[in-house]
Amino acid sequence: MAERPYHPGDEVSPRRHARHERALAEATSIVRTLREAGHIAYFAGGCVRDELLGLEPVDYDIATDARPERVSELFGRTSHVGAHFGVVLVRPERDSASVEVATFRSDGSYSDNRRPDEVTFSTPEEDAARRDFTVNALFMDPLVSRDAPARERVIDYVSGVEDLDAGVIRAVGDPDERLAEDHLRALRAVRFAARLGFRIDEGTQEAIRRHARELSGVSRERIGDEMRKVMADRYRAVAIWQLQYLGLDEPVLGEAKERALPRTLGRLPDDAELGTSFAALALDRGLIELSQVAGLVESWRERLCLSNQERDRFKEVLTGLGLLEGEWPLMGVATQKRAASADWFTEALRLVAARDLENMVRIRRRVDQLIGTPSGLSPRPLVDGDALIAAGHRPGPLFGRVLDAVYDAQLEDLISDRAQAMEHASRLFEQWSRETPGSGGSGG
Ligand code: ATP
Ligand code: MG
Repeated sequence: MAERPYHPGDEVSPRRHARHERALAEATSIVRTLREAGHIAYFAGGCVRDELLGLEPVDYDIATDARPERVSELFGRTSHVGAHFGVVLVRPERDSASVEVATFRSDGSYSDNRRPDEVTFSTPEEDAARRDFTVNALFMDPLVSRDAPARERVIDYVSGVEDLDAGVIRAVGDPDERLAEDHLRALRAVRFAARLGFRIDEGTQEAIRRHARELSGVSRERIGDEMRKVMADRYRAVAIWQLQYLGLDEPVLGEAKERALPRTLGRLPDDAELGTSFAALALDRGLIELSQVAGLVESWRERLCLSNQERDRFKEVLTGLGLLEGEWPLMGVATQKRAASADWFTEALRLVAARDLENMVRIRRRVDQLIGTPSGLSPRPLVDGDALIAAGHRPGPLFGRVLDAVYDAQLEDLISDRAQAMEHASRLFEQWSRETPGSGGSGG
């Protein structure tokens, strides 16, 4: 899973700080090698933005005038994932992440809305001009002392430093042209603005609105990747509000909906799971009936290329919420205990809390009572399949049912030791095989 994005004001964990230091040292040494070989080389893009904001990026991208073949020659330990875009991955010398080294380029057109059709190697200035937003189009020279003023370390062709200081996301160059080139940039603008607490420049906003519908032409994989990042972010509700405000929700989610405030989403804890965030969004967008869940989940899975695991979680949490807000108070002890120890429970309860805090407190109290029963919430079963077989029961269709029923009796504190459990099992085998002759399993 993607690491949770960091924010201005976040506490940086010692582990993260150490990783940052290693990545910075590694990237700096790559820049030094390139420079000593006579090339231009800078840090580029997101890492420069984050450095200047006082955040500690873990990924450092490098831009250089050295061609991909030359980069491989200089470093050896490379792989050519995107060599036709001029990108070479340099594997680290020490224990740290790989560093992307990209040749300065200007991109051609994006006919399939995915990747530029062709790239032309070019100058730093043109490389800045092909980037999406001014704050993402900065270069930094890591060989200038960190104590030197920013203007001596930063190479800025697009007034990005000004926008960074003012907290503005602004398209590089003509916003209409830049969006027409790649409509995903609309979604990226929303994501960066929410994460950094920036506003989107008016002209860029207008262009986004004008091009909103065309976002549906972008590949589902790319939209899905962006949306995953949006929904994993602590400021997900701000991003979703902005997305709706700019008319991007419909092309992204493929449905016209009344645009309500994303209240539930805004009340989730920062570290809510992705499935929980999607569930909250579905609720905020008017999902009411449990019978609509399967259809909605499937449609978003398709739209956003969610993995099976992500889809299952999304569905499980929504179904769990339905259960907690529906039949929970009427459920028996065993069923409540099973629910409360299911692995969707904590996430579903976070949704309950976001919708109705009192209800969450009621459920929590009940769970505390269940924990206080003699058998507790999820005790080890007194008997298992092997024990039944050892006692002479033949595995068959009744087996699972009997085991479930015996465990229920244990959860309800009707039985409390192994002998009672075995006795209960034998009774059930006898009774049920009489009811359904031929279902087997009796013996003992
Ligand atoms: P993050 O912290 O989310 O990774 P980032 O700025 O590093 O932010 P990436 O998607 O990793 O974003 O891209 C790296 C850089 O490549 C960006 O800063 C930007 O300069 C450029 N870039 C990425 N995607 C696009 C795009 N669709 N159009 C133009 N430039 C882009
Ligand atoms: Mg990045």
